[in-house]
Amino acid sequence: MPDEVTYLREATSRLLAGSTKAAVVRWMGEEGFVTTAGNPWTTVVLTRTLLNPRLAGLGSKGDPIEGAPIVITPAERAGLLALHPQHADAPGDEKKAPDEREWILAGVGAAGQCGLCGAGLEVSWVGAGKPSYRCPPPPPMTSQVDDVTGAVESGRSLKASPCGRIRMTAPLLEDAVAEQVLAELLRPEARDRFEALLADVRAEIERLRDHQRRTEKTLQAVKSALRSAPDSTRAALTEAQKAAQKDGRDTRTRLRYLEQIVDVAPPVGEAEGLVRWWNAAPLSSKRALVALEIKVVRVNPGRRGRNANPHDRIDILWN
Ligand SMILES: [Zn+2]
Repeated sequence: MPDEVTYLREATSRLLAGSTKAAVVRWMGEEGFVTTAGNPWTTVVLTRTLLNPRLAGLGSKGDPIEGAPIVITPAERAGLLALHPQHADAPGDEKKAPDEREWILAGVGAAGQCGLCGAGLEVSWVGAGKPSYRCPPPPPMTSQVDDVTGAVESGRSLKASPCGRIRMTAPLLEDAVAEQVLAELLRPEARDRFEALLADVRAEIERLRDHQRRTEKTLQAVKSALRSAPDSTRAALTEAQKAAQKDGRDTRTRLRYLEQIVDVAPPVGEAEGLVRWWNAAPLSSKRALVALEIKVVRVNPGRRGRNANPHDRIDILWN
């Protein structure tokens, strides 16, 4: 929701610039912004929303989630926490939920997808406490009878709702995906493809570093101009300074994500070394490798019966 991203960023800037929460909430109300539930913003909801680590692309332990959209930068989040220290260790709901960073295919930007409805998969403890990937439960049925035809329209026809009908034991799915990713990396032609993917990422890193250097120069020029600027140009220069600073923060965040991908460096093409690498790699590297190789993993309904082959249930769309 780009609109929401824009005004939450604006709210953050205003708070960091010294506006009170009450003033920011008043401004949001005047602009007609409402929460995703359709309610007017309150200071409590705004603070909780802005300080959710997810908004800065962070997991509940404060580590970056690879590929997560960044609404506010971790630096801005730190600035907000400094303004509202009482929220620094408020118990968040995410502490009770399974930590999605412990799983390769769930969470913001991850590849797991329901084969029936296309919803992103989440990790959940169901049944005898086994972690499973599942299509999130659908919202309560909202049956509506069409006045003219008398037809009943069920909630499931709403495209945006997850269907909740797919579930697969987490280690079973992750092992199957890992097996296919490793097999892919061992094919001779896949080696070139992997190098090409890495080269693309490296090229983007170079572009961003160049951009970063230019932004830094602009910022220095603006700062020195500001020192001797006449009043008539101060406002414009201050705006330019803010824009350059924001640009710098955005670029740094993107760079950090891409650098994690390049740091992966598995020994592509050597069977034993690759398996050893996978078994020893930290989860962030596994996620980065899967993100580099895979666009989507679709999980389809399983057949009844034991010894079902997990590979029969998944379709992988490669990058
Ligand atoms: Zn589904």
